[in-house]
Amino acid sequence: MAIIPVYEPYLGGNISLYVNECLTTGWISSRGAFISRFEKAFAEYVGAPQATSVANGTVALHLALDALGIGIGDEVIVPSFTYIASVNTILQTGATPIYVDSLEDTLQVDPQAIRNAITPRTRAVMAVHLYGHPCDMDAISTLCRDHDLLLVEDCAEGFGTRWKGQHVGTFGDVATFSFFGNKTITTGEGGMVLARSADVMDKCRRLKSQGVSPTREYWHDILAYNYRMTNIQAAIGLAQIEIADSLLARKKAIAQSYKQALAGLPLRTHDPVGPVDHSFWMCSILVDDHVQRDPLRKHLAECQIETRPFFPPAHLMPHCRANVTLPAAESISTRGINLPSYPGLTSEQSERICGSITSFFRQNLI
Ligand SMILES: *Cc1c(COP(=O)(O)O)cnc(C)c1O
Repeated sequence: MAIIPVYEPYLGGNISLYVNECLTTGWISSRGAFISRFEKAFAEYVGAPQATSVANGTVALHLALDALGIGIGDEVIVPSFTYIASVNTILQTGATPIYVDSLEDTLQVDPQAIRNAITPRTRAVMAVHLYGHPCDMDAISTLCRDHDLLLVEDCAEGFGTRWKGQHVGTFGDVATFSFFGNKTITTGEGGMVLARSADVMDKCRRLKSQGVSPTREYWHDILAYNYRMTNIQAAIGLAQIEIADSLLARKKAIAQSYKQALAGLPLRTHDPVGPVDHSFWMCSILVDDHVQRDPLRKHLAECQIETRPFFPPAHLMPHCRANVTLPAAESISTRGINLPSYPGLTSEQSERICGSITSFFRQNLI
């Protein structure tokens, strides 16, 4: 039986046509027509005025934080239950991540916990839309306004995700996306930065390209980076944006079929809660009893089904450890499994997966 991977990119549409155009015209580096075409198409898709492309989702976050002037002495509130890049990029600016707990039902950061963590040093809140579900953007936008805090949205897992019909990434002062190979749309490696203010956007554009002066050649007046995306990546990205709606529809249908087939088992699926569009970057389950999580994953691996465990909380990791107890984050992370979630998953494959999960619980519970 063939292995069912947890993810694989769907490389259809105009992808070969566009990439070949880069090769035949010679525009393979970070200049070329696909860069601005992809940026424009992306901004239009999410409903943002502008977007600037970068090399990956991690440097997107670092660039966004740096463009806001976040650094030494600042505190940035972030959920501990997130991918490590959210935390590492805060540390890379010299700022201090302040970990807060998440909500059991949505898996997103708890707005009340953010409020409780605010100190005179708090500069920003980083909202991470995990696994395709949005954070509560009413509560978070309000508290940022009340306390005059910057809002950073890590939307790496939130392409196609909406809160009250509005795409994530358009609520914050800055927002970032990732186009890694297993993200909802991919460019191989790649990322995007959005900014509410035109000044911050300009700063991002300068910082990502060595801080070169707009008026004087090879004159650099700020400490900056090379975080640019290539034209080939952008060519792939443009082709992906063109088929994004069908990729999202397919992923939603997969999530629906998992929900139906797994009903009644001692687990829950990661369902949308509230006025949201869940994009199901990853279709996830949480087992009721955490001791069953690893044996279930082992059983699925034996059935040639690849899965992923939920992220361990950042506050427990050696290089960014903090002496706090975050009960929801700690519990969620030991119970969660990401199931195969790629758009090309067939209904036969999803039946095989659900059959294997069901047989695990039958064997164990009788
Ligand atoms: C994937 C991801 C990133 C980083 O993106 P890369 O493109 O892999 O650097 C950041 N934050 C979250 C939540 C992610 O899932």
